Amino acid sequence: MTARTTQSIGAREFQPDLTTMGRIITIANQKGGVGKTTTAVNLGASLAAAEKTVLVVDLDPQGNATSGLGIDPNVLHLTTYDVLIEACTPGEAIMGSELHYLDVLPANRDLAGAEVELVDAERRESRLKSALETMRDRYDFILVDCPPSLGLLTLNALCAADAVVVPLQCEYYALEGLGRLLGTIEMIREQLNPKLELDGILLTMFDRRTSLADQVANEVRENFEGRVFATVIPRNVRLSESPSFGKPALLYDARSRGAQEYLNFAREYIHVLTNPSELNP
Ligand code: ATP
Ligand code: MG
Repeated sequence: MTARTTQSIGAREFQPDLTTMGRIITIANQKGGVGKTTTAVNLGASLAAAEKTVLVVDLDPQGNATSGLGIDPNVLHLTTYDVLIEACTPGEAIMGSELHYLDVLPANRDLAGAEVELVDAERRESRLKSALETMRDRYDFILVDCPPSLGLLTLNALCAADAVVVPLQCEYYALEGLGRLLGTIEMIREQLNPKLELDGILLTMFDRRTSLADQVANEVRENFEGRVFATVIPRNVRLSESPSFGKPALLYDARSRGAQEYLNFAREYIHVLTNPSELNP
């Protein structure tokens, strides 16, 4: 992996796109290993390739989005943790990436301490919201990669967000836990963040050789009509290899199906946001 020790780049001087300006999108599913980080990294890279300015916020102590974007989590000075405990501003912790339009607010295992340290803190669920509000006018998209739990970190992400994207693995137990996640989103909407939207469910790791994948995809589309993106992310070895090179699939193998479908997803997503009635016609 290429270890990057880039210094904080501070504020960008881009002009954000007015249609999507500063949209904060939380990528959440409390189920582990469903493609949250892969989606944050590769959707981020695909939007950046379309010259949208993107900030990927790593909100997982595993630091997978950080390392997947070429930054070594072990050599960081300032991270999402420092931002949440208000020891620094996001601008001080944000780093550049190999892609000109994509920045990263990195994380490492320090972040695990935030769950504990913030328990008795004031505004404990809105720390990320306060921080990201200051970054909204600098990016077209802010993507927040959540850990696999519905704890305080994910709660912060849902409070900060305009919308949620839920990656769902096309496997037998895919729907298990989805009701609880949707219930949490509803609770957050009622109590903490009334404007929170569900932008959609993204089917991931689709294996076209199995009929099970088709069955799961059909079941999800039936149950969540109009809320499932048309793009389906296939199971693709390039998507699983690229993180170990610290690159999104687009920079590792742009012609791979994985990279291409994330590009399609980015196109679909931009289209849906500019034409809100057209999700999954
Ligand atoms: P966690 O809950 O631990 O944060 P996650 O939901 O972020 O996990 P990922 O880390 O994105 O899930 O994916 C889990 C594993 O599956 C990783 O090893 C990743 O490289 C691999 N993976 C994700 N999507 C695909 C795909 N479409 N094809 C092949 N492998 C994939
Ligand atoms: Mg992850």
